[in-house]
Amino acid sequence: MSLTIAIDGPAGSGKSTAARRLARRLNYRYLDTGAMYRAVTYEVIRSDIDLNYEEEVAHLAEKMEMNFTPAEGDKKSRIIVEGRDITDKLRIPEVNDKVSRVARIKGVREVMVKKQRAMSANGGLIMDGRDIGSQVLPNADFKFYITATLEERARRRYKEIIKKKPDTDFEEIKKSVARRDKIDTERCYSPLIKPEDAVEIDTTDLSINEVVDKLYNIIKEGTS
Ligand code: C5P
Repeated sequence: MSLTIAIDGPAGSGKSTAARRLARRLNYRYLDTGAMYRAVTYEVIRSDIDLNYEEEVAHLAEKMEMNFTPAEGDKKSRIIVEGRDITDKLRIPEVNDKVSRVARIKGVREVMVKKQRAMSANGGLIMDGRDIGSQVLPNADFKFYITATLEERARRRYKEIIKKKPDTDFEEIKKSVARRDKIDTERCYSPLIKPEDAVEIDTTDLSINEVVDKLYNIIKEGTS
């Protein structure tokens, strides 16, 4: 079977980890579309472009040569821009702070959605993001909306970041996650929504294994 599976949800909901593990279990490719918006953001910062000049940001997204290899088995996905591997730069604080402002620009979204659809050909793919079930793959075989309370999502981000930055303040992380939620859900073009036909999973009290099992069982039941 070569299904396409769309997973959407807010920051820190656990969707990327679940999607990656589910892809391994199904032997599918996994595409993290957030990484693509992060790559554009990193390049915007690197080129010192003012985010208020939306046309300039969109122009950069359009002309930048981005090579994205989806994760497959144990092979991690990599993002190469103009021959430079920027995968390890995508989660730096400056990118976290600016990515939602870049992702709300119409021209940026158009370029990304086109690339994402091109990568979905032939199925056997799990894609996660904010607009996958609603815009990128409206005909996906399965759609999931993965969420958790703001407190829990901030706690997960905090646990990740504190390892690298011991002076991290939990309340600051929570504010930054809430800020990103607000921009992502209130933007004009393809805001984060739960598609009507998506199955919602609240992961607040679930372990990652429980989430993956739930997704896997729904897919198995739906295809048997
Ligand atoms: O999933 P991740 O947290 O890495 O996504 C980073 C940001 O990229 C999101 O906060 C959102 O602003 C944007 N994004 C988006 N549409 C997607 C994936 C990510 O707007 N499909």
